[in-house]
Amino acid sequence: MKKILLKKGREYSVAAKRHPWVFSGAVESGEGAAGELVEVCDSKGVRIAQGWYSPLSQIRVRIVPEKPVADLVAESIGRRAAFYADGSVTAVRLVNAENDRLPGVVVDCYCGWAVCQFTSAGADARKAEIAAAVMKYAPFCKGVSERLDVDSREKEGLPVEPRFQVLAGAEPPELVEISEGPCRFLVDVRRGHKTGFYLDQRDARALVGSMSNGAEVLNCFSYTGGFGLYARSGGAASVVQVDISEDALELARKNETLLRGCGTAMEYVQADVFQYLRKCRDEGRSFDMIVLDPPKFAASKSQLMKAARGYKDINLLAMKLLRPGGTLATFSCSGAMTEELFLKVLSEAAEDAGRDFQIVARTRQAADHPVAVSFPEGLYLKGAFLKAID
Ligand code: SAH
Repeated sequence: MKKILLKKGREYSVAAKRHPWVFSGAVESGEGAAGELVEVCDSKGVRIAQGWYSPLSQIRVRIVPEKPVADLVAESIGRRAAFYADGSVTAVRLVNAENDRLPGVVVDCYCGWAVCQFTSAGADARKAEIAAAVMKYAPFCKGVSERLDVDSREKEGLPVEPRFQVLAGAEPPELVEISEGPCRFLVDVRRGHKTGFYLDQRDARALVGSMSNGAEVLNCFSYTGGFGLYARSGGAASVVQVDISEDALELARKNETLLRGCGTAMEYVQADVFQYLRKCRDEGRSFDMIVLDPPKFAASKSQLMKAARGYKDINLLAMKLLRPGGTLATFSCSGAMTEELFLKVLSEAAEDAGRDFQIVARTRQAADHPVAVSFPEGLYLKGAFLKAID
């Protein structure tokens, strides 16, 4: 195995803190091919770990345990056994990349149809092995496919294409129907966002559902209707689903038809949320529950300040539209935005709105998107439920 020697003192992060990344600045000498398994050594040449080499990325080596990849996949899937236990959830993230000790490997499974993203050179080089292991160990797995349209592949020198390909087993249907809590959703595994669905918001959706009885709900950035349909199941009086994407709204409407009829008045609005919230303000509208689940505003730390202004803008507008006693369920999925900073943005928005709020709940990504203790970067999704107290 080729040796990568670290600069003096730079072994601490990998050897002691167990962080899974070796940055290019920490490397003294040595190189490998894209995706090659290499030995990571301290400055004296003593082996401290092994990892997958990425010649083009700032993250030069991604640490992996000394085990066959198929075993790591099997273990990761095994840790999700509880999710399948009662049958109420049929869509689960089976592998959450670094947090499951498989760097750059994401596997989401929708009713037996596994969809992968490979965002490190090492992961991409091992996709056949990974797909075979998913096929073998995932419950009811019928096929494993891959999305090639993930932007972060570019940093690793991997092609980014608007393409989807089957790696093992059968070809999935156009739309896969999953059930989650009280809802059913059609997932477009070929063209939908990420691998097709935002599995990470499962717990937050349930919480919104539990708080929606009798409420007039505004679900901003609705995508295929998730939060709004949970609110409907939870007995909301009305739900407005707002998204900029007509395709997402079309699927949201279809998802509604999968559910039993009820008295909730549903409305679907194709609009830019920034403009729509202003329109609601100008028309003097108000709501009992507002959900704000925007896309990632900050892709990196350099975009953080601009992103913070975007978060503050929509949260301030939403806070003003809440009735007394109403709840704002607000989220940030930008990894660069810490929980602390997010709460600061919310407190500044509340200050400008001139209203008192209390935090009644906080959420993070669901448990099938775990965060490795050694990898704080793994925590990206933060949520706060703010109640307007007058
Ligand atoms: N809450 C959803 C996920 C939201 S993803 C769920 O639980 O499934 C973010 C959504 O925001 C995407 O559907 C995207 O189309 C939409 N979007 C992005 N920018 C927008 C904008 N400016 N106005 C309205 N919708 C927007």
